Amino acid sequence: MTTRVIRSIAELRDALASVREEKRTIGLVPTMGALHAGHAQLIETARRQTDCVVASIFVNSIQFDRDDDYDGYPRDLSSDVEFCTARGVDVIFAPSANEMYPEPQRAFVDVEGVSDHLCGEFRPGHFRGVATVVLKLLNIVQPSRAYFGEKDAQQLAVIRQLVKDLNVPVAVVEVPTVREPDGLALSSRNRNLNEEERRIAPVLNQALREAEKLISDGSQRVADIKGAALEVLQHYPGIRVEYLEIVDPEHMQLVEQITGPVRAMGAVWIGKTRLIDNVLCRQAAQAAGW
Ligand code: AMP
Repeated sequence: MTTRVIRSIAELRDALASVREEKRTIGLVPTMGALHAGHAQLIETARRQTDCVVASIFVNSIQFDRDDDYDGYPRDLSSDVEFCTARGVDVIFAPSANEMYPEPQRAFVDVEGVSDHLCGEFRPGHFRGVATVVLKLLNIVQPSRAYFGEKDAQQLAVIRQLVKDLNVPVAVVEVPTVREPDGLALSSRNRNLNEEERRIAPVLNQALREAEKLISDGSQRVADIKGAALEVLQHYPGIRVEYLEIVDPEHMQLVEQITGPVRAMGAVWIGKTRLIDNVLCRQAAQAAGW
């Protein structure tokens, strides 16, 4: 089977109309390309669950808060096509910026509350851009299922809220974070790390795991938990913490006391590279169902 690369919305709609006529289900995997094993996990899950897998590859200008980040975002369509072909993707939708935004975009999706803290606070307009492009992609592809990574947990919460509040007929499927053996979450941005930066990068995950351990052991005061997690990062002068917070997993609101499952969320800068990660945490007693 060959993977079709489609660049126009009209051609994609045409191709998918026949899929729908045959009553075959469509799975959408939205990406910004520079594909890695994390994306592969999304594709493979979609491959198992749906008949026709569409991977979109689009570096979405309106979700970037810095021009240099947008300009410098890794782009390599030919190796992404090879990557998708090897994993049985049926269609790659790789529109140009002009195809997605032929005129300045005037309609936007704002997901309130869920977008307020964490990345929403430090990247103004980011989730507005994400929610808007995801809704556009869902409307263009009209999949029965769409696949997103737990790695971007706040993004996932924003999308779940958008789908729920705007009655979008799609099942959102969450795929667990794929990591390097040393714990670093795979990210297209990891390729920007130099050797020394790459060596210290897993410490973000170690800090979040420290929070996870304390919560599992029964710590309840978030101030203490955050303090211990930040302590892990303090030993590395090469790391600048943007945020490290404990939030409720559904609405991404900051909590002060642990009374149920939470997510430890962090963003750090290592040199010029920004990395994010998160870990779902619960008390051992909760996990055991007591
Ligand atoms: P991106 O291309 O970075 O916009 O990511 C596209 C999708 O892949 C998003 O749903 C991400 O959450 C997901 N993703 C990125 N990195 C990982 C990872 N390490 N593990 C699982 N999913 C990931």
